[in-house]
Amino acid sequence: MVRASIGTLTVLGLRDIRMDAAPTTAYLMIGGRCSSDCAYCGQGRSVAGDHSRLSRISWPEVDEDQLIAAFVAHPGAFQRVCFQATASRGVFRQLLSLVQRIHQASGLPVSVSYRVTRDEEAEQLLDAGVERIGVAIDCCSEQLYPTIRGGTLADAKSLVKSLSEKYPGRVTTHLIIGLGEDEMEASELMLDMRHAGVLVSLFAFTPVQGTQMEHGSPPPLLAYRKLQFLLGLLDWEDEEHFCVAYDAKNGIHSFGLNEAQMRSFLNRHFLFVTHGCPGCNRPFYTEVPGGTMFNFPNIPAETAQGEIDQFIQDLKTDGFEFAEGQNGEGEGSLTGDMLDYVGDEESLSPRPDSR
Ligand code: SF4
Repeated sequence: MVRASIGTLTVLGLRDIRMDAAPTTAYLMIGGRCSSDCAYCGQGRSVAGDHSRLSRISWPEVDEDQLIAAFVAHPGAFQRVCFQATASRGVFRQLLSLVQRIHQASGLPVSVSYRVTRDEEAEQLLDAGVERIGVAIDCCSEQLYPTIRGGTLADAKSLVKSLSEKYPGRVTTHLIIGLGEDEMEASELMLDMRHAGVLVSLFAFTPVQGTQMEHGSPPPLLAYRKLQFLLGLLDWEDEEHFCVAYDAKNGIHSFGLNEAQMRSFLNRHFLFVTHGCPGCNRPFYTEVPGGTMFNFPNIPAETAQGEIDQFIQDLKTDGFEFAEGQNGEGEGSLTGDMLDYVGDEESLSPRPDSR
């Protein structure tokens, strides 16, 4: 069984819906009912009702041959293909076969989101034409991980880091913000992953009907924006001497930059767009059109400045500390509980492919 996101099918001419933004990556899903039971995921084994949703998106079934033919008939429609594979019997074999067929038909780089458990699996996927392997960590909290996701965060981190060591520049992970973690947990995990050369893609938690967390709430936008800003600092490295300071509640309290530096950085790089494998924009995965836009699928020319202004204003209202003076560096009075200077780490090489 193959499913494709409704937006993907529309771009391929297999459905006809009105879209506020078209996907630039083709999103496919394979596998039956997942043997895992993550508390937030619509594919979990104990989820009641139909399993045709992941996040906010519906994923209709599609005939495999029809899908291949549509890729051939629409060259240049996408920049990438991404497979989401549930943990289910026989899924790996199906994944290998479909990756090969679609890679051949489309000529596109392929990402797979699949929990690789053995080196041979990673080798086989790469041999089949996969460019990037995604292993989702999702939950940033050590304490909450066992109940929300099962297993431990330490094991998940070590799996992702060891894959990245073996296959540098080819590993992606997903982090979901809003599962109950605090900002420091998310930030420290992002720094850890970035130091290990792993590309981090952020998602905002979206309650899905029928899951254990169906009554939960999306994260506060300000917390999400601060983490997007940090991800941008790690990617672009324009601001070499930033730091991350936390307050007593483990919130991000300062980046050691003054307001002008933060504005200038955001004007150069609008960081509130989807961040993931190159070409991934995931339109409205976690957003309702007209609602809070955690990840913009593309730069919103008319409202980008307003988004930046709102972010800066929200920081001020929240008591965020901007460094003083022209350059920020060394002139602020950072009072957070923890201070991590990361901007001058030699291991942080520019990652132009990670936006
Ligand atoms: S970042 Fe996008 S393309 Fe990459 S694995 Fe995640 S959803 Fe797929």
